[in-house]
Amino acid sequence: MERTLIILKPSTLQRGLVGQVIDRFQRKGLQIAGIKMMQLDEKILTEHYAHLVDRPFFPTLLKSMMATPVITMCLEGKDAVEVVRAMTGATNSRKAAPGTIRGDFGMSGQENIIHASDSVENAAIEVKRFFSDNEIFDYSLLVRDATYGPDELS
Ligand code: UDP
Ligand code: MG
Repeated sequence: MERTLIILKPSTLQRGLVGQVIDRFQRKGLQIAGIKMMQLDEKILTEHYAHLVDRPFFPTLLKSMMATPVITMCLEGKDAVEVVRAMTGATNSRKAAPGTIRGDFGMSGQENIIHASDSVENAAIEVKRFFSDNEIFDYSLLVRDATYGPDELS
């Protein structure tokens, strides 16, 4: 099954939205393969947001992502990367569709609730960046056969 990396951003902890965000993923049928709290630093964020280092908002983004610890999650499921990105919504929360996490919980382009991996290739890199091998768990939920049809379980 595919895995993807989610970060619940500091503003999500500040605003008390952690439970509601995690609840959405569980209700959807995604399995939690890993979850932890960690303090991000400039080194890991510069790697993680390498595509943005030259943008004028990068220093503000760094500060925002280091403001408190974050909660990182590795979610697992069929097509998990695409499913979670669709649930996340557009980068700017004001433009994100209602029904998405950003669309329902946010008003900001920067403080947009969560990070979610944007491709299968990046998801693999990001899960390794934020989790060591022994923090990711292989197990099978009892509801698996009720969550998927038999030909989807590969
Ligand atoms: N960001 C921002 N202003 C922008 C674009 C991005 O503050 O104009 C922040 C925002 O927090 C976003 C993060 O940088 O989530 C990473 O940007 P990316 O383009 O990768 O968006 P995402 O994949 O998070 O939708
Ligand atoms: Mg991105």
